[in-house]
Formats: sequence, C-alpha cells, structure tokens
Amino acid sequence: MTRILPIAFILIVLLFGCKNISSEKPDISSREDKEVGVSRPTISFTFDDGITSDIAGIKFEEWNSMILSHLENENLKAVFFVTGKNKLNKKGQNLLNSWNDKGHNIANHTFTHPNFNSQKNNVQLFKNELIQTDSIISKLSNWVKLFRFPYLKEGASKAKVDSIRNVLIDNNYKNGYVTIDASDWYINQRLINRINAVGIENTKIDKFKKFYIQHLIDRANYYEKLSYQINKRHINHTLLLHHNLTSALFLGDLIKDFKKKGWTIINAKEAYQDEVFEKQPKSEYAGESLIWSLAKQSGKFEQSLRYPAEDSRYEENAMDSLGL
Ligand SMILES: [Zn+2]
Repeated sequence: MTRILPIAFILIVLLFGCKNISSEKPDISSREDKEVGVSRPTISFTFDDGITSDIAGIKFEEWNSMILSHLENENLKAVFFVTGKNKLNKKGQNLLNSWNDKGHNIANHTFTHPNFNSQKNNVQLFKNELIQTDSIISKLSNWVKLFRFPYLKEGASKAKVDSIRNVLIDNNYKNGYVTIDASDWYINQRLINRINAVGIENTKIDKFKKFYIQHLIDRANYYEKLSYQINKRHINHTLLLHHNLTSALFLGDLIKDFKKKGWTIINAKEAYQDEVFEKQPKSEYAGESLIWSLAKQSGKFEQSLRYPAEDSRYEENAMDSLGL
C-alpha cells in the first residue's frame, strides 16, 4: 500500500460511517445548568508531548496538520505542552512552529518526560528539565509559562512536592493543571496496534471513534459533576488530550459533540484565567487532575474517587468486549 492510500481510506470511513454518536448519553451538565440559570459547562483543549514520527503509515506532517485543521475549523486555540528532547532537530522545530504559527500557545512538559513520583527523579532533575525545555520554547512568540507534570505526578512526598513548587515559583511558572483527565492515549495505542496488525482496511475506525467520543464525554461529565459539587459553579475546564492519531482522526467530531451536548468551548489560555487554577491543593493531595485532588482534599468523596484517577485498566474490558 502506498503512503497516500491509508489516509484516503480513513477519511472515507470517517465521512460515511458512524453518523449518530451524539444523542446517546444524558447530559448531566445541562440539568445543573437549569438549576443555576447562569453559565454553561465550559471546556478548553490542551495537548501533551509532541511526537514527530509517522504513525500507522501516515506521515507525521500529515497527521499533525489534521489536528491543526480540526482546531482551525472551530476557530479554537489550544495550549500545547511539549517535551523538549525531540524538538531540537528540524522536524521538532517544524512541529513547534506549525502550532505556534497557528496561534496556539506552547508550554513546558519537561525535557525527557520523567515521572516525579519516582524517587530517582529528584528536585534537581526537575529543575534541569524545566530549564532545558524553557530554553527551547521561550524563543516562540506564543510561549506561555505554564508547566504540566508528566503522568500528572507531582512527587510522592510532601517535602518533594514543596521543593518542586518552589522551583516553579522561582522560574515564574504556574502549574498547567488538567481538570478533565482521560485515557485517549490508551485508545490511541490500541487503534495503532490494530492498524499495524490487520491493516487499515480491516480496522473498524468508526467503532474506535464512537468509543473515543463516548469515553471523553463520559470523563468530562464526571469531572464537571465533581467540580460542581466542590466549586458550586461551572468552572473553565482544561481537557487533557495527546498529540496522537486519535486526535488527528477524531478531534473534529469530538468538538462538535461537546457543542451538541451544550458545552461552551473556549481557548485554553483564556480558560486558565479561571480563579479555580489559583486553588492549589495541599502538597499531600498533589497530583492527578486538579478536580480530583481538590475532591480528595475535601474528604467528602472517599467512596467514589479511584486511584489512579484514570488508567487503561478502566477501559480495557470494555474495549475487549467491543472487539476494539
Ligand atoms: Zn506527557
């Protein structure tokens, strides 16, 4: 199969398959809306990592520009939290410029993507990682001083979390909190595995799309409901997605589905103006989504919170049973 064919095939499937995803779930948020009678649930889109390789036979330049087109079609600006290591070469620079030039904000996601809950990744490493990537992205016109923790892990002890927070303050960075966490990365991984195993023409792309959209709407409704109980209002949410194939293929339909379900969609930089992002949880509750850690800190949701908050283990059986 040539390079052109896989993408043409996917586009045909997406255009003609899977038409009626949106009307299947009750909309929890709009019920609350009527009770309050003011604003609506509001969401913005953030993306993590930034990879520069071809995926499942689709050229990097092609799938990257598909994500950018989805955002442009909706006139939306995202915040893109990038790792630094693979952004030094030409492809990496092209990736950064492609997002920056479209008006998206570029933010810091470390140099090598370490897990700071691991003991071997200490505060000195944190500082080095922050500064290395800062020196790469600070050249860009739409750079913002927001930092996102890999795996949303901020350190496993109070002392470490406190020291890391001090490094952020010393460098004038703020935590680029996620409020809606999800497992798009896992659906993406399974989709790629399937395409690589059986070929695109034998992959039920529309079924993956349906699962993906339902999963993300479900997680958004979950965090919105939890957030409403804590904050007594609709906050500006920041959804975590990844720079990957599922974003390239499904983001446009996902945005449309959020709109259909009554969500207001705003630019991510604007979303971070919400004062909820000043509510830093105590160090011992740091990590996961901001809403999850505030819920944990309140002590009122012990029966319902799961740890980790989001993980492949929660989606695995459902995907298995659907043959995905
Ligand atoms: Zn990441």
